[in-house]
Amino acid sequence: MRPDLLNPLFAETAGLKGVGPGLARPLEKLGLTRLRDLAYHLPDRFVTRRAVANLDEASVGENVVVALTIREHRSSSGRGPFRVLAEDAIGNVIALVYFGRASYSAKKLLPTGEKRWVAGRIDQFGQGLQIVHPEHVSEDSAGLLATLNEPVYPLSEGLTQGRIQALVHQALAHLPRMPEWIEPGLLDRMGWPSWSEALVEAHKGTHEAARDRLAYDELLANALALMLVRASNRSRTGTPLLGDGRLRAKLNLPFALTGAQQRAIAEIEGDLQQGAPMLRLLQGDVGSGKTAVALNAMLVAVEAGAQAALLAPTEILARQHAETLTRMVAGTGVNVQLLTGRDKGRARESILMGLMDGSIQICVGTHAIFQDSVSYRNLGLVVIDEQHRFGVGQRLMLTQKARRTPHCLAMTATPIPRTLTLAQYGEMDVSRLDEMPPGRQAIDTRVIAQERLADVVEGLARHVAKGAQAYWVCPMVREHETEDLAAAEMRYETLKARFGDDVVLVHGQLRPEAKDAAMERFANGDAKVLVATTVIEVGVDVPNATLMVIEQAERFGLAQLHQLRGRVGRGSQASTCLLLRGDALSEVGRERLALMRETQDGFRLAEEDLRLRGGGELLGTRQSGDTPFRVASFEQIAKLLPLAHDDARLLMERDGGLSSPRGEAARVLLYLFERDWGVQLLRGG
Ligand code: ADP
Ligand code: MG
Repeated sequence: MRPDLLNPLFAETAGLKGVGPGLARPLEKLGLTRLRDLAYHLPDRFVTRRAVANLDEASVGENVVVALTIREHRSSSGRGPFRVLAEDAIGNVIALVYFGRASYSAKKLLPTGEKRWVAGRIDQFGQGLQIVHPEHVSEDSAGLLATLNEPVYPLSEGLTQGRIQALVHQALAHLPRMPEWIEPGLLDRMGWPSWSEALVEAHKGTHEAARDRLAYDELLANALALMLVRASNRSRTGTPLLGDGRLRAKLNLPFALTGAQQRAIAEIEGDLQQGAPMLRLLQGDVGSGKTAVALNAMLVAVEAGAQAALLAPTEILARQHAETLTRMVAGTGVNVQLLTGRDKGRARESILMGLMDGSIQICVGTHAIFQDSVSYRNLGLVVIDEQHRFGVGQRLMLTQKARRTPHCLAMTATPIPRTLTLAQYGEMDVSRLDEMPPGRQAIDTRVIAQERLADVVEGLARHVAKGAQAYWVCPMVREHETEDLAAAEMRYETLKARFGDDVVLVHGQLRPEAKDAAMERFANGDAKVLVATTVIEVGVDVPNATLMVIEQAERFGLAQLHQLRGRVGRGSQASTCLLLRGDALSEVGRERLALMRETQDGFRLAEEDLRLRGGGELLGTRQSGDTPFRVASFEQIAKLLPLAHDDARLLMERDGGLSSPRGEAARVLLYLFERDWGVQLLRGG
């Protein structure tokens, strides 16, 4: 149970003053459903303004607060702006300019002859000065002098800075008194404020100590939770699985395993023979052949008389895994079945039966395979095929709940920087596939301006005419979901006009049946072009697809581009990746795309991604889901994670049951960051 003192923080945002149905949606879009979320909705940046006595003291482009006397209202005829002429203390004239509906309120706010304090940015307009849409207007100086340093929050459509400021304010007024979970010595040494002070300060200005403390809290919570999983796992007894090799001998793979694959399999086999359940991470770049490693591990389990389950992040991927594995085990007599949330009625019953009586030895599926209604006769190994962005801890938790703890192999498709590996996977044992299967050709990667779209389509036509297939990816950015969908649909329509039924469309909002049908047509070669949003990112394997077109490539992170590109270059044919770029390309964006051209080493790209993002790109452009963190930035992860990690370990060593006063405080922290699956493991013993 969540400690009572956290209740006010977990109250719904919808209950706040001034939050009607109209605000509920935009708030939800930003993930601000509880007061806690508002309190942690930290400003992207601050606008700094200078109070000036008159306009001579201000320069063009500067944000100022200045006292003005209103002289004249000038409504323009037609559609022009509404202009208010005003004068400073020494007679300089400036125009306050309003467009559209804002002019109505401006008329009332700025009566002629009166003195008003105005905050805004000074612009040059012709020979004169102007402020377009002053950000604040007030009758007295006090109100405006409080805005000399004003937070700017991430917004969604339907929200304004003023609105969100007021809500954050309310949330901050409800902060409970928290026990201190940070070690006092560290707190002192770093000069960090208490939790509630840190939150308040972080909303007031660029207080590094406050921001760092808050980030540290999050990192500590995560490190602790992962350590609790680890500790719980150590204390459990699993079943040693000793394979005799009889099934693997019958396996008829169309290739010889790479050295890296063999090493990983040996490491896993060693773990499986132990009494303590395995907790191992298999890290390997796209196309490095993780599936074959997973299959070998699962066959060891089956040889030893146990069952194995493979958990995939999406239905599409689960389906593909099931097909690949079924093909690979043909001839071994092993029964592989797919179980997804969509299986209903008789089909589902029969699969559940097979799992219960052990006649199904390998089960592949989405999270449905861990529902309460699913029970296994003897589940010995769980493989989690994970997109790096999913929090692995919670998944691991699933395996910990079983009566007898199965061995666990987590696979990550993205080579992530070492700092992030630690953050995301804690102290798991790691096997790395650092060698690609032979015969892979470099993917010819080119950056092309979006204006040359027609040429690209011609190229695609030539490509398809040769009998090859292609992916066409349109970006999907959460903030503008409908707009993005429209982009993918539109591209689909234009390509369809040209290529007819050879084109299929897949995106996240399609009904699963429609999605699978489209995927199926592409996978079996019936369809030649797959237009998709990033749902194909997670491991679809069509070797005949040798062209990848990515629209608005600058909107993707490097790691993501790398994953997408990894969809091609899977067969023996030469492959091409075309990165279409918009014309508003930032310096960093340019550098990113250049790197994509330069290297195909996933580890290098991951490190560079970290560097480029750390290097001062706007906080706001950070893609959610890149790390399991909401508060900590990449820089803070690099700086503070080792510390948090050591601290968590120390705490665990002294008080593994989290029962000392500091341990109790740490429990509060885990609940605060919703890493309470860690606490649940404690109780489970
Ligand atoms: P990923 O690590 O991205 O999951 P996959 O397991 O899907 O990679 O493997 C990618 C492709 O490489 C598949 O078509 C697979 O059959 C092939 N493959 C895997 N291992 C080898 C190998 N040792 N030699 C040649 N091809 C391999
Ligand atoms: Mg894979």
